[in-house]
Amino acid sequence: MSLHHDVEEVLLDTDTVAARVTELGAELVRDYTGRDPVLVSVLKGSLVFLADLMRAMDLPMSIDLMEVSSYGSGTESSGQVRILKDLSKPIEGRDVIVVEDIIDTGLTLNYLLRYLGERHPASIKVCCLLDKPARRLAEIPIDYRGFTIPDRFVIGYGLDYDERYRNLPYIGVLKPSVYGGAPPED
Ligand code: 5GP
Repeated sequence: MSLHHDVEEVLLDTDTVAARVTELGAELVRDYTGRDPVLVSVLKGSLVFLADLMRAMDLPMSIDLMEVSSYGSGTESSGQVRILKDLSKPIEGRDVIVVEDIIDTGLTLNYLLRYLGERHPASIKVCCLLDKPARRLAEIPIDYRGFTIPDRFVIGYGLDYDERYRNLPYIGVLKPSVYGGAPPED
């Protein structure tokens, strides 16, 4: 069965996302020429965004990947996160760009920014594709933002519901029937 059948609404179609990612890449090239930045991304949701963004950046750079999991469950998150996979190289003295899929409460990124800051990079900036400000609990400085979206649970372009739908080529909203009526915990 096609994944598309489970989508209630396409929020951002493939071309819209691609055009904005190209613009973000150009902004980053403008700001980071001559600085050899490292793009630090958090698995798994940011994978598709990172893959497209880095190809929109024609300049010397490197990438590193982390994986984290939140303590507690769902929205009860205390903002404490467990590092499942750490950076593979030191970032001391480097210009770090944190590449995030979506910022919701901001608790995960708030922790991560402190964690990365303790490693003494030359600078840290945040580039997120989706900003969902309605439920923000921690103030996050977003330096590069793809789209501001309403408080809806979105899937596709790397974002999952229960590990599914990451491979949808656009960003959409699930049909309530898929998760049994109530909005899914995220
Ligand atoms: P925060 O700590 O900002 O509340 O959570 C950020 C993480 O929650 C994101 O990296 C993502 O994994 C997950 N998340 C938040 N909102 C959504 C959403 O609308 N859809 C999906 N699939 N994940 C979300």
